[in-house]
Amino acid sequence: MIVMETDSSERTTEVSRVLRSLGLNARLVGSGRILCTVQERVDAGLLDTLAAIPGVRLVRQVGGPFILSGRAPEDRTTVVRVGRAAIGSGEVTVIAGPCAVESREQLLGAAQAVAVAGAKILRGGTYKPRTSPYSFQGMERRGLELMAEVAAHTGLATVTEVIDERSLEAAVEYVDMLQVGSRNMQNFQLLRAVGRAGKPVLLKRGMSATIEEWLMAAEYILAEGNDQVVLCERGIRTFETYTRNTLDLSAVSLIKNLSHLPIIVDPSHATGRPELIAPMSRAAVAAGADGIIVEVHPYPERALCDGKQSLDPVAFNRLMVDVKIVARALGREI
Ligand code: PEP
Ligand code: MN
Repeated sequence: MIVMETDSSERTTEVSRVLRSLGLNARLVGSGRILCTVQERVDAGLLDTLAAIPGVRLVRQVGGPFILSGRAPEDRTTVVRVGRAAIGSGEVTVIAGPCAVESREQLLGAAQAVAVAGAKILRGGTYKPRTSPYSFQGMERRGLELMAEVAAHTGLATVTEVIDERSLEAAVEYVDMLQVGSRNMQNFQLLRAVGRAGKPVLLKRGMSATIEEWLMAAEYILAEGNDQVVLCERGIRTFETYTRNTLDLSAVSLIKNLSHLPIIVDPSHATGRPELIAPMSRAAVAAGADGIIVEVHPYPERALCDGKQSLDPVAFNRLMVDVKIVARALGREI
């Protein structure tokens, strides 16, 4: 794999030509940040020659399927900046807010509560992928307008889920980060489109996805030239019915070993039970997660979506106190 400097597109063409003239199969991957992949093994002398070409940032032999998302021993975690948050920098980034944006009053209430408690990013679904077509489907563009308004008011950055090209087109105008939900983790056209959208992406694990499938989904985004991807473990389907899903905490350490991408945990969708959200948040931080994403509603009993698993501001505050203790014990800040 040859990683080119950002603004060296002419040189990239030149390198590709050199490789082809040597009988190697060079392929350009991505748009903005440009990469060349070579499928065959090349000898060490050629690697040095390629590394010396102006415009080439680094040359690496890559084994396995995770060409762009994989971690080489010398790699640090990629830092994804969203507003004041630097996900992957060592801080514990907290994303919180309602499952769905329902009204200005509801969103502002949630945003003020989570900002005061120390969250840096506001979550809020505006295009909701609901199991039933008769359930609340989200406020769509009006919800996005409210996200932008409330963000300006509270100083929080924002993330919302996109479910297709139409919602993506609208969301890029209003929010700082795009979420691809569990149900769309293998919507490859959507992954390609968010890869081209020029915004950081929160990629949730499909509810029945293996780690390999999940990282291959990330590859689709990275291959478009966007390396600002944060993975999110949100629980997987098992035979257990007491919890909404089963939180796979081992995924956090696994991903840390396999990939340079940051990973956060969603204890709300992983458990579906408010009493488990704080303990699983503490465990996620202890396991090395780069952050958590938690559903918070000013009045959970009135929520139009996922009220049962939403924390009220008081419970969220308690969670933050607990999480800060674990973070500090590990020498990390929130
Ligand atoms: C969500 O975060 O609002 C959501 C729908 O989660 P998931 O895609 O993990 O089910
Ligand atoms: Mn939800």
